[in-house]
Amino acid sequence: MARRITKQERERIQEILDLLDEHYTREYKCYLDHENAWQLLIATILSAQCTDARVNIVTKDLFKKYPSIEAFANADIKELEQDIHSTGFYKNKARNIILCARKLLLEFGGEVPSDIDALTSLAGVGRKTANVIRGNIFHEPSVVVDTHVKRVSQRLGLTKETDPEKIEYDLMHALPKDHWTLYNIQIIQHGRGLCEARKPQCEACFLNHVCKSYQKGKKRGN
Ligand code: SF4
Repeated sequence: MARRITKQERERIQEILDLLDEHYTREYKCYLDHENAWQLLIATILSAQCTDARVNIVTKDLFKKYPSIEAFANADIKELEQDIHSTGFYKNKARNIILCARKLLLEFGGEVPSDIDALTSLAGVGRKTANVIRGNIFHEPSVVVDTHVKRVSQRLGLTKETDPEKIEYDLMHALPKDHWTLYNIQIIQHGRGLCEARKPQCEACFLNHVCKSYQKGKKRGN
């Protein structure tokens, strides 16, 4: 059962969200370059364990070479492996992209579905990828748990979980729906700028007075 959120905790969460809005705006943006739903789907599959910047470099040529979902479905796997080599885990990714494209053609008329169960039935598509598609393409409120959201949410004290799916449910419970998609966009900026994995810049962070890990550290005298 979801934990009860006290009035005080609600106010703390609201303050975090207001500050995120103030610093990073409420502008919706996608960090993966794409022109349509299937391109975003493939870019998101490629982004596993890889930076968005690297994926954008690779997809610039990739989407010229494979201009349709049919082109990916008919791709030569060895050639595709070479094309996406620099994104890492290229063997799995190439196999998943081809299987995913074939299933889209066979079962979904070549269209990317919006339903989470349909999306996660595609090869290489987990909840994270499905939620990226739902939020960015279909504008369905969706919580995307990537590496930044996982780390920063734990530090802020919005979740104690380590499993991405459990974090997703904690955040859906803690955040108002109008922030589900925005939160990921803002936290990516926060995680890249101030709350980096190795060296969080807590003294300079505008959230430090509402951040559980910073406040805990202060109490311990760190
Ligand atoms: S205070 Fe430190 S740990 Fe907390 S959100 Fe800011 S940078 Fe991250």
